[in-house]
Amino acid sequence: MSFKRYLLSTFPIFLIISPALSLLYDSNDDVISLDNSTFYSTILGSQFAWNVEFYNSWCGHCINFAPTYKKVATDTKGWQGAVGVAAIDCSEAKNQPICTHYGVQGFPTLRLIPPGALPEELGVNYFSIDQTEIETIIIDYLTNLTIINRAPKGCPYLLPLRHMENIWQSAKENHKHLALIFEEEEAYLGRQVMLDFSLNPNILVHRMDVQSTKKFGINTFPSMYIFQPHGLQQIAKGFTDRVSFVKALTALVSSGKIDNPHLLPSPHSEHAEQKAPQMQQEMVQEMVGKKNGKEKYLVFMQDLESALTYCLRQEVAIHQDIGGESLKALQHFVRILAKFFPGREEVSRFLRKLSSWLDSVQDITSYHWSHQMETLQTVDSFLPENIHWVSCQGSQTYFRGYPCGMWTLFHTITVNSYLYGKDSAKFLYRDVLTAVAGYMKHFFGCSYCSKHFTQMAATMDSDVTSPKEVVLWLWRSHNKVNKRLHGDASEDPMHPKVLFPPKSACPKCYNTLGTQEAQFDEEAVLGYLLELYGADHIVNIPDGEEGIPDSIGERRDMDWWQKMQRSKDLEKLQQIRQQKQEKRERLLAKVPRLHSTKIILPAIGPSYNRRCINSEFMRTTNSKRLRSLSTYSTEILEIGKTGEVWMIALNHETPCYILDVFKHFESMWVKSHQVEVPIDRCEGSVLIEITGSKSVKRCRRINTITHEIVGSLDIIL
Ligand SMILES: Cc1cc2nc3c(=O)[nH]c(=O)nc-3n(C[C@H](O)[C@H](O)[C@H](O)COP(=O)(O)OP(=O)(O)OC[C@H]3O[C@@H](n4cnc5c(N)ncnc54)[C@H](O)[C@@H]3O)c2cc1C
Repeated sequence: MSFKRYLLSTFPIFLIISPALSLLYDSNDDVISLDNSTFYSTILGSQFAWNVEFYNSWCGHCINFAPTYKKVATDTKGWQGAVGVAAIDCSEAKNQPICTHYGVQGFPTLRLIPPGALPEELGVNYFSIDQTEIETIIIDYLTNLTIINRAPKGCPYLLPLRHMENIWQSAKENHKHLALIFEEEEAYLGRQVMLDFSLNPNILVHRMDVQSTKKFGINTFPSMYIFQPHGLQQIAKGFTDRVSFVKALTALVSSGKIDNPHLLPSPHSEHAEQKAPQMQQEMVQEMVGKKNGKEKYLVFMQDLESALTYCLRQEVAIHQDIGGESLKALQHFVRILAKFFPGREEVSRFLRKLSSWLDSVQDITSYHWSHQMETLQTVDSFLPENIHWVSCQGSQTYFRGYPCGMWTLFHTITVNSYLYGKDSAKFLYRDVLTAVAGYMKHFFGCSYCSKHFTQMAATMDSDVTSPKEVVLWLWRSHNKVNKRLHGDASEDPMHPKVLFPPKSACPKCYNTLGTQEAQFDEEAVLGYLLELYGADHIVNIPDGEEGIPDSIGERRDMDWWQKMQRSKDLEKLQQIRQQKQEKRERLLAKVPRLHSTKIILPAIGPSYNRRCINSEFMRTTNSKRLRSLSTYSTEILEIGKTGEVWMIALNHETPCYILDVFKHFESMWVKSHQVEVPIDRCEGSVLIEITGSKSVKRCRRINTITHEIVGSLDIIL
């Protein structure tokens, strides 16, 4: 038995997982934070089920939901033999392949994953932001696992018993007490109490079927009894709630000292909530300057580029497959960016190239997209790799940032499209808004924001009837969101949401009469927005460079920053390329080239067995292709050994998506390097280093479904 397995079988998992640093959850919380280095080793093949939240630390709804999720984790801490409560931040670039693999598209996504999960078992999604509801969903899930005989080892038998004989089957010698809860079959109380005591070795709790009550002469439900030599004795009499039942059982076993974590008030949860946000003042960059006693808002190029970088490199890349409507929306959005993004020439060129490539494809995967982004990085066309916020910097890392950058980007492209086309009779003025709405609907990671914006955009055609209305519609819509979010937990206290622009920034934007939005002089607002977001007014500010001019005006006039920024990007690009080349040479030197072997790939389609994967999970696994990808990986691993390096030659029979194998399963089984394959032809070579395989049950072995042969790989060993 391996050391890890030994540990797993001996101690509850929370003792051995070292939590990842996360923005919304920290070590004071009971939520287990996972990342790319811990996710698969924790979730796959686990002894118990997992409730995982896939979140984005910048998403307001995830920020709002975090306190509830922490409460769920604390309240179910005693259930850890049956289910763990974890979270992973999909806004972190390193975690993105995992979120892609699990097909996560909106945030927060809650997912239940069964015990002993295989890579292709992606679990079941559910939606709730209510603590009680989430806990009952978890209980239902565990009950279903019990019904299909796949309950985690540490999960009590959650179904009600009818006969006393059944009780003795699960009783063990160390059980000093046996408690019986009589309740209706659908009730949750008994199941909660059973789970609360599931880690307590001294007591066994069972639910009894209502039918059995006659035998015992019991006629009140719910009620709890303990089993004693002379018969049943009721405890917690007159109470029908979880706290009272738990208290009564605690009192019963306290003489034998119990260690049920549920009963120990957690010092962490309250603490985490009460903790006032520590304002990292030094991180806050003032976006509002003062000019002639007037507040002055500025738009910074770094915010626009950072939004673009996150949007294209991460938010889009998280999507496993992009086709149909969503591909059209992406094509449209990138086309608009290529046309109206008022950035550096190299970035604009990158966007134009990206757009013309995108317009030529029918259907892409996350791999194709990321590969193309990499391919397009050249000396004279690139998209920065780093994200750095200036005016969108929040007082905490989870405030502002990306959504602020996206609003800024949207206003910038609407204003610049207006300035560009307003005088032309052929100007398709709504085009830019349609592109923004399409992106919001199909790609923006915050599900609620996307839903709200799509609702607002539904009336866009009738609301927007002239070019200037494009700019004003987005301004009004943004103000509606500001109004709704004022006082919300996602509001940065250092940057309270206000109706924009505030009077202090644009006195002439306000009428002397009128209330609410009617108080605005919309012509003046339009003038203000054109000035703020117009290409000529966007400020380039260097980051932490010495010797930079103090005045923003002076900096803007200089083009030295552009040059410096560009040479920095190029330098970085060259470094990355050189590192990759060196790595490839090192790996190539390890390929022994002794002989070549051919493996026949199994078929696309169901390569699973019901014993391994319950149909409930299959229904939610929407990508047939991914299932077969894992089978490919398994094939490769069956003949490979840890530490070996292979060069895999792809031949004309190889299905293109074999490339996804190396991408999706990288962190689990193999490290793939240097996928030198033209994107439209799947011929070329792949170097992979096998870094060890996880010992999981191989469903394929007991599979009875016939495979159809779809391709082959030549492996030079
Ligand atoms: C399209 C979109 C829809 C969203 N919907 C939701 C939602 O439904 N629920 C939710 O919780 N979060 C939503 N968000 C996120 C939320 O609106 C904020 O972006 C986030 O809370 C960060 O706020 P912030 O203080 O940085 O300012 P933001 O609201 O992001 O604004 C960024 C900057 O834009 C300027 N600005 C502000 N108002 C206007 C305006 N009316 N016109 C022009 N410029 C303006 C200011 O300079 C401000 O600093 C959405 C984000 C986007 C991009």
